[in-house]
Amino acid sequence: MLLSLQMSGQKHFSALFLLVIFYNFIFAFDTAPHFDLTRFVLHEHGFNNTTIKIAQVENWLTDYYSSTPTTSKENRADLEKLHFDNLFTTAEIQNNWAWLINNLKIATQKAAKDDKPLEMLAIIGIGLHATQDFYTHSNWVETHPRFPDGAFQTATFLSTLVSAQNLFTGKYPADRKIGFDGKNVPPNAEIHGDYVNGLNHDSPVRPNWTEAYVFAYVASHELLELMQKWANEVDPNFWLKVQQFQVNQSDAKDLEYDLRALKNMSMWIKGKGADGHWKGDKSGFAKFFDTFAPKWIASKSSIFVKQISEGDLPNQLSQNLYSSNSAPKLPQTNHFSLKKRAIILQTTLIKEKDDVALLEPKIDSGGKADFYPVITIGGQTYIDRVLQDYSEFENPWVEIHFADDSATEIPINFAIFDEDDTDVDGRYKDDICDINPKSGKTDLDFRFNLKDGSVSGEINGIFQNKSNVFTSSGAKPDKNRALIKAFVTQFLLR
Ligand SMILES: [Zn+2]
Repeated sequence: MLLSLQMSGQKHFSALFLLVIFYNFIFAFDTAPHFDLTRFVLHEHGFNNTTIKIAQVENWLTDYYSSTPTTSKENRADLEKLHFDNLFTTAEIQNNWAWLINNLKIATQKAAKDDKPLEMLAIIGIGLHATQDFYTHSNWVETHPRFPDGAFQTATFLSTLVSAQNLFTGKYPADRKIGFDGKNVPPNAEIHGDYVNGLNHDSPVRPNWTEAYVFAYVASHELLELMQKWANEVDPNFWLKVQQFQVNQSDAKDLEYDLRALKNMSMWIKGKGADGHWKGDKSGFAKFFDTFAPKWIASKSSIFVKQISEGDLPNQLSQNLYSSNSAPKLPQTNHFSLKKRAIILQTTLIKEKDDVALLEPKIDSGGKADFYPVITIGGQTYIDRVLQDYSEFENPWVEIHFADDSATEIPINFAIFDEDDTDVDGRYKDDICDINPKSGKTDLDFRFNLKDGSVSGEINGIFQNKSNVFTSSGAKPDKNRALIKAFVTQFLLR
């Protein structure tokens, strides 16, 4: 029935039919962690902006096409296996990793042999997605906690291969009785869960998200190194072509539309237990979702979408996953060798200011504010979740940035917006809010000093934990005044 609704070259024509169904499944880290990690790691590996965006889209589509009827049932069944759920023993996890790595190697070497950089970017997007999902969906972070001084462990599954651990991943969905392998799910299996329960570390509203995010960063680096080595074995010039790949103007436009779909649909998805899957809950908004999503879904598929919705890449990469077929030996994986620190910026309060005069409009004249931050740390911009309809919210946002251990200071820009309108033709009409007491300046600029953990600039002092935060708020005559509290801290990756 689903197949008969497919139209060639279109994602789907029955958008409403789709909306009813695809709320059901969400299989991953929320989209923003995958998105930010992919950008960060590919940038550190010398990929250009276009290729980073392509890999971000392919990473997201690994989730998207696992949970919508807009691709064939077979394709969806293949993609469902690329999220490290429903593996209940160390042996199953070991076998799955071995097959996944085997499949990624074959696909990488085939793309290199056929000289297909775009296909390679899709392999990178899917491979990074699955790798990152292992750390958010398994108990790896609980079995590899931080050091007593707060430093993060960097021993990944691939670089250590310790099989004595009692490892498992969550059951998804919660009422699953039969695994992908046809066997009964163990009765005591822990569930994947949602915002408030289960094993998952999918967003900052879950325990140990920070640890899962750092492991996913490290593991993403290790996977890219393996892929580069595999590609070089076939064609030493191929990897550079992938890093420098460019698209024509029309495809570049399609890519921007796919990126908007990635963000908007993740941010606004609402219903059947979902209240946003960009970076935690509270961002869902059915009205905006229903305005944006059907148009993108009904539009002609881009060349990037087709990499996953059509063709046999998902099938190649899911061969033998969740089977008991004995897997090839895992390759020697070099342990993460970069010297890095995680810089963590945690906002502990966002609040509308209560100094609005009688005739002055409030931040949102129709109701409460819909705050979200746009935070740039060391040149990378992070957009966090929209808090739909809250005039005040505690511990709303957290950003993690990876800095070189040798860096001395990192510039930070902190801006707050109020979401007002759906994304019309890629132009956001959202209002900027004022969190800077200076007249005429709304955002905050300061530097984080890695030597002593202090900040300086428009904020000065040392603010490193929840009981020692800085406060900044807007002041008249600027409009849309709000108050934030936040702190910045750092931990080594060791
Ligand atoms: Zn996933």
